[in-house]
Amino acid sequence: MSVYLDYQSAKPVDPRVIEEMVPYFHDSFGNPSSLHKVGDEATVVLEECRKTIAGFINAEKDEIIFTSGATESNNLGLIGYALRNKAKGNHIIISEIEHISIQNLAKYLEKNGFVVSKVPVDQYGRVNIQKLTDRITDKTILISICYASNEIGTIQPAAGIGKLCREKNIVFHTDAVAAEGLIPLDVKKDNIDLLTLSSNDIYGPKGLGVLFKRKGIRLNPLLIGGGQEYGLRSGAENIPAIVGMKKAVEIMQKDKKKEVDKFRCYRDNLIKNILGKIPRAYLNGHPTERLPNNAHFRFEGIEGEALLLSLKDEGLSVSTGSACSSKTLEPSHTLIATGLLHEEAHGSLQLTCGRFNREEDISAVIKVLPGVVEKLRKLSPIWAE
Ligand code: PMP
Repeated sequence: MSVYLDYQSAKPVDPRVIEEMVPYFHDSFGNPSSLHKVGDEATVVLEECRKTIAGFINAEKDEIIFTSGATESNNLGLIGYALRNKAKGNHIIISEIEHISIQNLAKYLEKNGFVVSKVPVDQYGRVNIQKLTDRITDKTILISICYASNEIGTIQPAAGIGKLCREKNIVFHTDAVAAEGLIPLDVKKDNIDLLTLSSNDIYGPKGLGVLFKRKGIRLNPLLIGGGQEYGLRSGAENIPAIVGMKKAVEIMQKDKKKEVDKFRCYRDNLIKNILGKIPRAYLNGHPTERLPNNAHFRFEGIEGEALLLSLKDEGLSVSTGSACSSKTLEPSHTLIATGLLHEEAHGSLQLTCGRFNREEDISAVIKVLPGVVEKLRKLSPIWAE
């Protein structure tokens, strides 16, 4: 048996995307910066892709900057904005459940003269707008809060955060990687100024990301060179990957409703059966404001890593949390932020479904998991019946 339920960590590229990319490796290989015909053709393709991808988040074409991935988009958004605008203030706010790339960017900015506050979240992992408001000072220039948690799947109140930022004249950045393709993103409606996307998270190729930058927001570039991407991201554009991301967006726009309904059905099936069949099992994250493909549990008396390895032996690829931090022995900062004790956070399991899952995958987990939990509990020194 081989079942993959870790779509939050990595997704296979959709075969239709690969097919679309192929001609751009050899037949249409131009560099958009070249002034000849081959270069012009590449420019046309690049600008078409920019337009489609802008439409995906209700942005304008020239508000899309292509990068090498979500990490770079987060870097360009946070460092680029902070350095360019430090004369306006040196205070930045993030939440306690940001992805490691934002957490480490905050540390970097602190070492470089900025003050970072972290807004806490409630037991479901949601930021409270009043608590956020309380942290704003006259030096606050930037608030960065994810659109949804990449671990527990809790959807953040982006519209409320955007409204607050607009009223206070603070720039709002959101890392939308976990949410993209699963819930609608609208930078205009939510008053978002900077937004991070990743191509792979909508079944496009890895190594490509986007930073949406609202017109009028000024950033310092991180890469200096030929001045591509409006002078904000030098280096020849990765046209095959950009074409792939455009195709990924088109597929998403066509199939999204059906696909999301399928995920929701799988997710609810997992939650109902796992909580029903396994005693002292609990759902992490918000009961309703959660991503449609995310089921996140904790089991008393279980160590997450042991569970993951036992499930691996059964052919199930699952996760205990963010892949980017999975090699550390520290419990997930997200789960700790929701108020869990270390031992509770350690007993967690993250299941995220995706495009290529079938009903049988869900049934397999529901069949195998209760027995594995029971076996591990029997061996556990901390489990009392
Ligand atoms: N932000 C979030 C929410 C993520 O889940 C990830 C990892 N997929 C990243 C940023 C970093 O993405 P990448 O490693 O592709 O740069």
